[in-house]
Amino acid sequence: MPIRILSSSLIDQIAAGEVVERPASVIKELAENALDAGARRIEIDVEAGGLRLLRVRDDGCGIPAAELPLAVQRHATSKIATLDDLEAVVTLGFRGEALPSIGSVARLKITSRTGDAPAGSELGVDGGEARPVRAAAHPPGTTVEVRDLFYNVPARRKFVRTEATEFGHIVAAVERVALAAPAVAFRLRHNGREVLELPAALDERGMASRLARILGEDFPERALRVEQRVGPLSLRGWLGLPTAARAQADRQFCFVNGRAVRDRLLAGAVRLGYRDVLYGGRHPAYVLEIQIDHRLVDVNAHPAKTEVRFRDSRAVHEAVFRAVERALASTRPAESTPAAARIDLPAFAGGAGRPLPLPLAAARVAAELAFHAPMAAPGAAAAAVVREPDAGALPLGHALAQLHGLYILAQNAAGLVVVDMHAAHERVLYEALKTQYATAEPAAQWLLEPLSVNLPEHQIDLLLEAQADLEKVGFEIDRVAPGQLALRRVPAMLAGAEVVPLLVQLAQDLGSERGAHHLDAAAHRVLGTLACRAAIHAHRRLSLAEMEALLRQMEQTERASQCNHGRPTWTRVSLAELDQLFLRGR
Ligand code: ADP
Ligand code: MG
Repeated sequence: MPIRILSSSLIDQIAAGEVVERPASVIKELAENALDAGARRIEIDVEAGGLRLLRVRDDGCGIPAAELPLAVQRHATSKIATLDDLEAVVTLGFRGEALPSIGSVARLKITSRTGDAPAGSELGVDGGEARPVRAAAHPPGTTVEVRDLFYNVPARRKFVRTEATEFGHIVAAVERVALAAPAVAFRLRHNGREVLELPAALDERGMASRLARILGEDFPERALRVEQRVGPLSLRGWLGLPTAARAQADRQFCFVNGRAVRDRLLAGAVRLGYRDVLYGGRHPAYVLEIQIDHRLVDVNAHPAKTEVRFRDSRAVHEAVFRAVERALASTRPAESTPAAARIDLPAFAGGAGRPLPLPLAAARVAAELAFHAPMAAPGAAAAAVVREPDAGALPLGHALAQLHGLYILAQNAAGLVVVDMHAAHERVLYEALKTQYATAEPAAQWLLEPLSVNLPEHQIDLLLEAQADLEKVGFEIDRVAPGQLALRRVPAMLAGAEVVPLLVQLAQDLGSERGAHHLDAAAHRVLGTLACRAAIHAHRRLSLAEMEALLRQMEQTERASQCNHGRPTWTRVSLAELDQLFLRGR
């Protein structure tokens, strides 16, 4: 086929593929247009799950008759005109894509009247073909009617689910828009029956009833208010109490400058804020609105505009996480659960509180191998001794060499094994620490002379907050002066390690973003951070014996195939794959 330019209706249909996924996406686009037009009330009528009819009527500014044909043309918008405008978009729409896209996959009719026009006018579009504008009766505002969605795109129609499912998505879309614009009244009807009637929420009480209607009757009483300014960011919202958490993550709403977004970064930050107050597998309900200088956020990340990019995503993450965490901290006394009791014990103790069968007492092995003992002079560890392939029984085989101070290369019966040494060791230590944590008597060693740890007072406080957890793995610490701790006992597996710097780093991590925040319970976090700090770091030269020891520990350690962050710790390349690389037949 020769190269040629696509017809304009096909171009619209391709764009529609991104913007109009299902009836609910049409509702979202039309409702956003109404909000951009300054509507005070939006009425939505749906028939047959939106496949027969979607109608959105508003009392906004209206479209002048002369501009109606433009409204349905691609890349035609009244909302931006220059790149500068694009970089600081304040409206929900700006791409000029929704109406032409909808018009290319449905029968579209727009009836509108501006405030100063004596009468209204209407424009119809059928499968991408616009008809001439006609006079029509309409009060000031706009009605957009979409009939027979996807009638001319059978492939898309096949992906549409049942009427009830599609209508469910429509309700969710209306709820999202309604939470983003509390001052606007909404009404939604399906097949002539009223489903939602939301009066304008102009004060706290009004907002509470809108929240109750959308997130559940008890939500307003079981939520905490957050209202905070952090740098260029202002945060406002309602955080469901941990005790009101749900099995599904279906009541989580994030808005950025009035736009409903699904943003991993924000969801992750909120989740983190909840991390040590939530039991595993539960999801908080929340509504969170972020206002930020429009220039610090890029909304042009995706045609559906439900994703955003922050210029300084770290700062946003930090601000949201801290705000949520601080707000939730106030729930503790009321929860009347001391910190230690909140720890997710089943995960440590395995089932009914029995200690786990020690996976080859990984702790003891680690101690014997003394990863932390000062290393022999560089070069002493011969890094390229080739072994006979006798590695049949050992999954990770025998160590051959260290690569760039990061990876261990080993040979097993099948071929080559590559291990990320820090990640692997971190997991081994973490699992060993958890095992110690769960035993009544952690293997530990009293020091003949206590070591002293000097730190700023607030960091000592952080360590003392974690004291119960530290004791459970074998540490014994107490404060001897405002800025000084005495370290009297250390976990056996860390004997010989540089424990004082380790505690110093732990204190710093506990007070900053660095720690193992991805781990849910507080104790996991302490143990995870400890493991990360104690694990062998890049560029440590390892002897073959040490590499071997790590491989054997990995084989004995649960979950050792992923590091504490869920990334793989090792991979393999089989002889067959190597043969292929060298085009060698066998
Ligand atoms: P965008 O919203 O990105 O500008 P659309 O295709 O959704 O693109 O709409 C095109 C134009 O039609 C808008 O820029 C606006 O001027 C006009 N328009 C659409 N819907 C309405 C409405 N409900 N009220 C007033 N004007 C509207
Ligand atoms: Mg739009």
